[in-house]
Parts: sequence; structure tokens; C-alpha cells
Amino acid sequence: MGEFELIRHYFAAAACARVGGDVLLGIGDDCAVLAVPAGEQLVVSTDTLVAGVHFPDPCDPYLLGQRALAVSTSDLAAMGATPIGFTLALSLPAAEPGWLEGFARGLDAMAARCEMRLIGGDTTRGPLSITVTVFGRVPAGQALLRSGARAGDLLCVGGMLGDAAGALPLVLGERECGTAEAAQLLDRYWSPQPQLAFGQALRGKATSALDISDGLLADCGHIAAASGVQLCIQQQQVPLSEALTELLGPEAALQCGLTGGDDYVLAFTLPADELQGLQAAGWPVQVIGAVEPGEGVRLLDADGNTSVVGKQGYNHFSP
Ligand code: ADP
Ligand code: MG
Repeated sequence: MGEFELIRHYFAAAACARVGGDVLLGIGDDCAVLAVPAGEQLVVSTDTLVAGVHFPDPCDPYLLGQRALAVSTSDLAAMGATPIGFTLALSLPAAEPGWLEGFARGLDAMAARCEMRLIGGDTTRGPLSITVTVFGRVPAGQALLRSGARAGDLLCVGGMLGDAAGALPLVLGERECGTAEAAQLLDRYWSPQPQLAFGQALRGKATSALDISDGLLADCGHIAAASGVQLCIQQQQVPLSEALTELLGPEAALQCGLTGGDDYVLAFTLPADELQGLQAAGWPVQVIGAVEPGEGVRLLDADGNTSVVGKQGYNHFSP
């Protein structure tokens, strides 16, 4: 199968490649054409997943397609953006129909869930690597940034942390995965759910936000640095799933919740008077700490002692 037949058959023909919404022109020309409504701004982010670094090789192509789009789309959620579409730059060792079919189906399923349209891409031969660039829009000036946290704000997250990190030994086949708990964690790893509607609901309310991809402590460090504040985390408030605690025990579960990446849950800071309204509207706001003057991240145990944590998150070029 040639490059163009491959693109046509697996990607241009996918349901998610249909034009519509803000996508005026999709796959097939030199560029896609997007409409950005008056009064809105374009929001763009890109992420690369490399075989053997970001996912085990081989793995289920359907799950990989799903996950590749979810991790990128989560960045739109973190900005409070409405999705428009995405491009897919795919480097493949071989054009294997079974693999391509599964991958395209997984991509299509996540695109449907996120209301994303495939608008173009690039297809090359090489080691398996997937780059997804996402495009979204926000009302002018309303994107949720990392830089707006203020002393006195609450520090919040949008769900359970650590499940994806807890799934890693299962993903890598280092651990038995027969149980219901294991299945739940594996689902959190392979099928992250970008909190798009929640991010949009936080616009004009949260003072800063990001999606947790590198681990709670590391990502809170990014908000602290960008905002020029200190984030204090109450260790016992970090939400951990029963499945994670059951599978790993309380200590290792907490370690996953604090330093494990790949959850793609939102972390954000919120003026205290916004809390009740959001919770009453049913949004999954969990308060885990507060913003204080200072710098960096402080972790407090149940007795109010500052506790020390080793690894703070994944860093590709750490020595
Ligand atoms: P060009 O040479 O102009 O860059 P290509 O030959 O690379 O164009 O691609 C042809 C068309 O197919 C373009 O519209 C491009 O966006 C699209 N395309 C290529 N690869 C993919 C892919 N993996 N997924 C979706 N669209 C793709
Ligand atoms: Mg090209």
C-alpha cells in the first residue's frame, strides 16, 4: 500500500475526518482551513508519543490511537478551550493493515468523544512515533493560564490521581492484570478522559490551571513558578481511587498520586468564593491545598509537618 492510499483509506475516510463545525477544509489540500469565530482566539498544542518511551511496543493499536489523541486534547481542556480539530504526524516502520485499522478506530473513538476533527497530517516511514497537534478556541482573553494563581486561592484537582502510574507495571507486563482493580487502572492509562467541559466551566473562575501529565508535585511546581507563589498540598486530601489503594497499598498509592504522570486530570487554583457554585453545579472539584506567598511546592502530612518526596515527576533530560 502506498502513502496516499494509506492516508485515504485509514485517515481521510475516517468519520472524524469529515469537515464541519469550524473546519472549512480538511484533509487533501496543502493546508486545512479553520474558521475562528469573531471575538475568539486560537489555542494550539502538540505532543509526541514515541514507541518504547511513551508506550510499550508492541501494544494494542486501538488503545494507542485513543490515548494519543486524549493526551493532546487534554491540553485544550487545561486552557478551557473548545476543541476544533487535530493533525496527525505518523511515523511508521511498515504499512500494516491490521495495525492501521485498529489505530484509526481508536483515534476515531476518542475524536467522537472529544468532538475533534482530523484536519490533516503527515505520514512517513521510520520508528513508530505519533505527533498530534490540537487546535481549539477560547473567548478572547479567557484562556486558563498557569500564571494567575494568587495567595489565598484554593488548590484543587478534578479527580482521582495516580491510577495511570499505578497501571504502568501492568502495561509493561511486569505484574498480573486479572483483577477488576487492574482493569480499572489500565483503562485510566489507555483511555484518559480530557476534562473539556470542566475546563470550559472553569473559565472566568479558576485563576490558573493545567492538566497533570508529569505528576501532581511536578505540575504544581509549574503553576507555582509561573504565578510566583507557593502551592501547599495537604497529603491526606490527595484523592486516590480504591482500586489503586487496593492494588498497591496506601503508601505506594500515595506516591503514585503525588509523582505519577499520565493522569490528565485538571489541577487549578480557585478563589474560595467560587468553590460552592462549581460543586453545586456538579463539577468534580476536590480541594487539596492552598496558594501561599513564597515559591515552589510544599507537601504537608496529617500532623502539619512538611514531608519530603523523592522523585518529582518524569523529566526526559534529567541527569
Ligand atoms: P504535502 O506534501 O503537501 O505535505 P502530503 O502528501 O504530506 O501533503 O499529504 C497529503 C494530504 O494528506 C494533506 O492534506 C495532509 O494533511 C494529509 N495527511 C497526510 N498524512 C496524514 C495523516 N496521517 N492523517 C491525516 N491526514 C494526513
Ligand atoms: Mg506532508
